[in-house]
Amino acid sequence: MYKAPRGTTDILPADQPYWRYVLDAAERLCRRYGYQRIDTPLFEDAGLFNRSIGAGTDIVEKETYSFDDRSGDRITLKPESTAAVCRAYLEHGMHALAQPVKLYYISPSFRYERPQAGRYRQFHQWGFEAIGESDPTVDAEAVSLAWDLYKEVGITGLTVLLNSIGDAACRPGYIQALVAYYRDHVNEVCGDCKVRLEKNPLRLLDCKVPQDQPIIAAAPKTSEYLCDPCKAHFAATRSYLDALGVPYTIEHKLVRGLDYYTRTVFEVVPLEKTGQQTAVGAGGRYDGLIEALDGKPTPGIGFAAGIERIVLNLKAQGVAVPNPNQPQVYIAHQGGDPARQQAVRLSQRLRDADVNTWLGFGDRSLKAQLRHANNMGVTYTVMIGENEVQTREVLLKTMATGADEHIMLEQAAFRIAHKLTGGV
Ligand code: ATP
Ligand code: MG
Repeated sequence: MYKAPRGTTDILPADQPYWRYVLDAAERLCRRYGYQRIDTPLFEDAGLFNRSIGAGTDIVEKETYSFDDRSGDRITLKPESTAAVCRAYLEHGMHALAQPVKLYYISPSFRYERPQAGRYRQFHQWGFEAIGESDPTVDAEAVSLAWDLYKEVGITGLTVLLNSIGDAACRPGYIQALVAYYRDHVNEVCGDCKVRLEKNPLRLLDCKVPQDQPIIAAAPKTSEYLCDPCKAHFAATRSYLDALGVPYTIEHKLVRGLDYYTRTVFEVVPLEKTGQQTAVGAGGRYDGLIEALDGKPTPGIGFAAGIERIVLNLKAQGVAVPNPNQPQVYIAHQGGDPARQQAVRLSQRLRDADVNTWLGFGDRSLKAQLRHANNMGVTYTVMIGENEVQTREVLLKTMATGADEHIMLEQAAFRIAHKLTGGV
């Protein structure tokens, strides 16, 4: 028997209410913050990601799904969406629109990773990008929108980590200081960090090996090397976050290894660092990215959250989510074709009145149908037997109390719909 490919999951009906709940919240918040939805293809030219995410990163070197299509074009399934959204911004001349252009997406992403809880090979991201504005209020608003999602869905025990990694003017000075510091400690660091020191020194601060932690803790901090404009931008961002009431902790270790990342970086993480700390979302400013994709210099900032990780948190915290697909009314019938005819007609009227209706099928006894209705958790069961056919009534049973009453068939759909929306 076939199984779903390793690292992929089926989102079964029982899980769908969690997804609906999270995505509804995400879209509602995006509306409030003035973001418009964009959908980009599942695959792009491989070059787009090589150029934007960059050779030398885990994503591009170890995690992409890339292949040559039948005409020999090199294709990559998107491992994230920022590059694709920036490509669309350039391709559709969005620089001509009022800036910033605020776009959000909900999209599958593909990374060849070692699957484990919250880490898959096909996963989904909700994310957003504000392109074309460098004002620090945009940074604060981005952190605030990211934070609001977790608040809106009711996940607790999270916080925002925040840092500034400077820009092209001040980061070289910082990296120089970092490298000089690490050269003095090169015999104390792990093997990977010896390589990072030569290849991508900023990533030294990402190291998870315990022996390296004291060295990281005492390393020079990006904040001490910011140039005046970056310092002012960081201070302003923090002051607006305070005004917005978003809680955050400055985390000096928080960096991004790529040149086009500038200034603000942030992550949403659990407060309790149980085991390996896993971010539920990450974002940052990328003032160099559009230029790296051959556009005119254009600032931008974005964020992405893994929806699977949000759903895992909702379940772990026992957050109750509504199920819009829950059947509300079960129509049970017994008494041959006349009863069935009435049941079928009533089902249509209920559905026209926007009631989730389950019509009993086959020739099962009323008792068996009632049991089925009970298992489904419907609010009401309508029973139509020979008597009801005669009197043109239905028997309406309120499942929670067991109370039942006869109502006129003609009025049944209206009455039931009214009761379901809180009427008496
Ligand atoms: P991690 O350090 O956990 O690998 P990352 O830095 O690679 O994360 P980003 O590229 O910043 O992650 O992606 C943003 C978010 O997407 C992450 O915070 C996470 O919630 C989610 N995410 C990333 N990779 C996966 C994956 N393989 N499976 C599920 N969710 C993921
Ligand atoms: Mg990763």
